[in-house]
Amino acid sequence: MKKVFIYFFAFLFICFILPALLTKSEISASSEMSNEEDNKQESEKVLEPYTYNQYGTIKLLHTDTNEVEEVALDTYLCNVVSAEMPVDFEKEALKAQAIVARTYTIYKINNKKHDNADICDDSTCCQAWISKEDRLARWDGDKEEKWNKIEECVKETQGKIITYNHAPINAFFHSNSGGKTELPVDVWGGR
Ligand SMILES: [Zn+2]
Repeated sequence: MKKVFIYFFAFLFICFILPALLTKSEISASSEMSNEEDNKQESEKVLEPYTYNQYGTIKLLHTDTNEVEEVALDTYLCNVVSAEMPVDFEKEALKAQAIVARTYTIYKINNKKHDNADICDDSTCCQAWISKEDRLARWDGDKEEKWNKIEECVKETQGKIITYNHAPINAFFHSNSGGKTELPVDVWGGR
């Protein structure tokens, strides 16, 4: 009878307690590793709290003329949002686009790709941009009303960006994922 109990406890130990112990130590080891990585990344980042007021204007590179224009950030964002998303989309979608575009822009100001500019107008390099004049020319119907809708979306989200540890994230976005998504680390590298 005693033997049966010993076998029973040995069975319990192997089936439940041992796996639980092993799993726990694995989890704590992996979380320690990712904490270490996070801390390492954190120390490389700008950790001052985000203040929108410091980003009044940006230097925009026009790739067709190679000219750099200094423009008000929110004006620039109206041109970006109207280039990136159809104006007849729901206002909340346009507002989300404004926040992502603002985040991406501020990330680019702090992580410059171009020597003499913060960002360029080429969607395959930085972020899509269209002049107000060209935008209005391509719209039908009440063009001014449409432009006002874009301006409202930028204004109503003024100062809002997406941050992680007080730093703006590198806010990638796409218009259509083709039904699947992929981790940035597998496409561009970086976490
Ligand atoms: Zn660029």
